[in-house]
Amino acid sequence: MSKSIASQLAGLPSQCLRCQRMGSYRVVNICEPCLQQIPRTENSCRRCGTPTQRPQKICGKCINKAVWIDQTLIACPYSTPLNSWIPALKDNRRLEFAPVLQQLLLEQALGELDTKIDWILPMPIHWSRRLTRGFNQSEILAKPLEQALGSQINKRLLARNRRVRSQRNLNRRQRLRNQRGSFYIPTKEAEKLRDRNILLVEDILTTGATAEQAAKTLKLGQAKTVTLVAVARTPQPNSF
Ligand SMILES: [Zn+2]
Ligand SMILES: [Zn+2]
Repeated sequence: MSKSIASQLAGLPSQCLRCQRMGSYRVVNICEPCLQQIPRTENSCRRCGTPTQRPQKICGKCINKAVWIDQTLIACPYSTPLNSWIPALKDNRRLEFAPVLQQLLLEQALGELDTKIDWILPMPIHWSRRLTRGFNQSEILAKPLEQALGSQINKRLLARNRRVRSQRNLNRRQRLRNQRGSFYIPTKEAEKLRDRNILLVEDILTTGATAEQAAKTLKLGQAKTVTLVAVARTPQPNSF
């Protein structure tokens, strides 16, 4: 749902996504008690977002290794109801779930972000996936951050490689790109990255490996800081 549609709808009676009660809600279609009942991330590693026992601590994994991401902000655990709402948006185009997911992301970013952001980058998806899905969910989730943070969304700074393929028939430049990992910075955008503070926006963080790869690409491209904000993180056993 675009922001303008969402703001037109705000204030009009609508049905709560969770309890089905009718009302005029702050976030289009979810009532305040249901919004408050969504489980939020309490303490997590500042670097990687893994749950920790105390606030603002770096987890054991991050103490001992170089991490490309400077700060990770996770709004919620990937549990009920988000483990059905995010797939509904992503896989079934249920755009009525966008406003509440946008709100959770926004609250997390406004509450925890400690860097002034220059560019907001929705995590790119491969073009073939975009073609089948029809949209990139991270772009939808990132939209309200523009106004709230006073920073622009940039969809061109970071691009997704083709799926890694056989090296045969590739020229040298294509081979380098094929090996470089799953992201690259288009040459003509490179200057816009230098010394900038980047906010990467993701829907769900699982292992964090993809986000780390994206951050590495941005840092090697001279980005100053990379902060990651995600709506949810899947539980990781033995993370304490
Ligand atoms: Zn409700
Ligand atoms: Zn960590």
